[in-house]
Amino acid sequence: MKLILLGAPGAGKGTQAEIISEQYGIPTISTGNIIRAALKNGTEMGLKAKSYIDAGELVPDEVVIGIIKERLSEPDCQNGYILDGFPRTIPQAEALDNMGFAIDAALSIEVPDDEIVKRMSGRRVCEKCGASYHTAYKKPEKDGVCNLCGGDLVIRKDDEPETVKNRLHVYHEQTEPLKAYYQNCGKLFTVQGQEEVADTTRLVLAELEKLI
Ligand code: ADP
Ligand code: ZN
Repeated sequence: MKLILLGAPGAGKGTQAEIISEQYGIPTISTGNIIRAALKNGTEMGLKAKSYIDAGELVPDEVVIGIIKERLSEPDCQNGYILDGFPRTIPQAEALDNMGFAIDAALSIEVPDDEIVKRMSGRRVCEKCGASYHTAYKKPEKDGVCNLCGGDLVIRKDDEPETVKNRLHVYHEQTEPLKAYYQNCGKLFTVQGQEEVADTTRLVLAELEKLI
């Protein structure tokens, strides 16, 4: 299965991606995680991306297209993949089509803006391994500590309220048009994001069943 997850920042794409990954045995490819890892390692690409990310803007298309092209060529992507956070613009979607990595479906997780703003304030990530948590919806076993590696849980700089507002604006302007793009080729599926992660997962898996 080759799947794109669409949705506003904080709609729960990453969480659902992890669950689908496990269920179907295919990797999740998150451009956000790849860029943050590059940033942490101080690579040239990471340094270039930093000012965009911190401002809640999109990293230039050619940078993320390069990242995806390289990643999708790796052997673990042979049997399928879940794209979390790519494409985010029409040119990125067109580039993906032109790369020859055809996708089966784009699944959009719909969450209203006011709900997004509320959720983002509780979002935490592991400083060490990047795993994500939420103070209300996805609590770690021990407060402030990563279940997977014991690292400290922190607020991502781009999850600060002012930056979140800009990211939502960018989402509506640049990413939401992708829904029409995939609708036009009959590949768009939609679910309403629920308060409980497990409830959203049920809806997501029901949609994926239709594809098999
Ligand atoms: P979220 O999952 O909250 O939407 P991500 O972790 O996917 O956020 O992305 C964080 C930031 O990384 C984005 O705000 C953007 O600056 C950059 N980024 C990630 N993916 C892309 C992409 N496909 N195109 C442009 N910028 C991207
Ligand atoms: Zn961790």
